[in-house]
Amino acid sequence: MDDSLNFDTLAVRSGTVRSDFNEHSEAIFLTSSFVFESAADAAEKFKNSEDNYTYSRFTNPTVSMFQDRLAALEGGEACMATASGMAAIMSVVMSTLQAGDHLVSSQALFGSTLGMFSQIFSKFGITTTFVDPTDLDAWKNAVRPETKMFFLETPSNPLTEVADIEAISKIANASNALFVVDNCFCSPALQQPLKLGADVVMHSATKFLDGQGRVLGGALVGSKQFIMEKVFPFVRSAGPTLSAFNAWVLLKGMETLSLRVEKQSANALEIARWLEAHPAVNRVFYPGLESHPQHALAMRQQKAGGAILSFELKGDTPEQMRANAWRVIDNTKICSITGNLGDTRTTITHPATTTHGRVTPEARAAAGISEGLIRLAVGLENAGDIRGDLERGLAG
Ligand SMILES: *Cc1c(COP(=O)(O)O)cnc(C)c1O
Repeated sequence: MDDSLNFDTLAVRSGTVRSDFNEHSEAIFLTSSFVFESAADAAEKFKNSEDNYTYSRFTNPTVSMFQDRLAALEGGEACMATASGMAAIMSVVMSTLQAGDHLVSSQALFGSTLGMFSQIFSKFGITTTFVDPTDLDAWKNAVRPETKMFFLETPSNPLTEVADIEAISKIANASNALFVVDNCFCSPALQQPLKLGADVVMHSATKFLDGQGRVLGGALVGSKQFIMEKVFPFVRSAGPTLSAFNAWVLLKGMETLSLRVEKQSANALEIARWLEAHPAVNRVFYPGLESHPQHALAMRQQKAGGAILSFELKGDTPEQMRANAWRVIDNTKICSITGNLGDTRTTITHPATTTHGRVTPEARAAAGISEGLIRLAVGLENAGDIRGDLERGLAG
């Protein structure tokens, strides 16, 4: 498909390949392997397993369609799908780095990503320096001769700090480090890191790409050379592969991606503005608000503020702040109390005791995640209904 077409057209049309049956909607190829005309045909296809269908750990037509569609949406040459977002992180590190190599990463990371960098990869001799994502000098100063990768999430979870992708890409480039951006929070509908200088985009497709909380999935998007020469051989051998069924669910999800993300961002902005004026609320963290410290950068880098916001409740002591936060959460009747995000359903979380519960109280305090903080991943319900749902607990 012509990649110069507009995003919304690519989201619906790109990647589709029809079988001999001429089905309109993409087919699900639930088959572990593929058959050959002859022994010679099998030998030939196994020799070029990246270009032929032999076994679904390597390649599968439904997974290929998902990969081609996501590559088009991110403006990348190629994509490798994985079973989850974490499998994508494992694949980009394992296929690129080796013992002795060093990584510079934002300290504001998804919990399991932080765990992989600090506890798993370190066992294999890959060390990580964590930096404040908004401090460009910190990125620069963390570089060592053995630095091979930069890793960034923006906006961050749960405080929605926004880092300058273009500026960090220049530092990564000058250091010969591969710059990987986790684009989960914005999705390509709002932000396209490759166009801002990133080398690789990483996704948890579980979030906005599915958008309806149904399946796990992940992906890496980058140059054809990087994906086919580095990532494909790793995924083919190690097997953190996306299932064809999940790829099909994700293909359907991506068709409505920009509609959902734009509407969810508009809902989030409305709720953020309302919370900011609420007497029970200390502070609201949302890139779309003028009060956000990186508001100007966010509006330059992203099409909208995104669907995720956090807000901190008032309280004289940490115990009181926690009680207030739990009261708001427990009084909701519409919001789902769950850690997932990116869903059409609004989800509500208390980061200090759930997603960031395993982080030490000191590290939590340093990261600004207080007992009074609530994260809201805004869905497609009516924004006024969600405000009413929160008001019940906020009113005290
Ligand atoms: C959920 C998430 C991941 C991990 O993805 P899974 O699909 O759950 O493995 C990575 N990064 C971010 C920012 C996430 O929100």
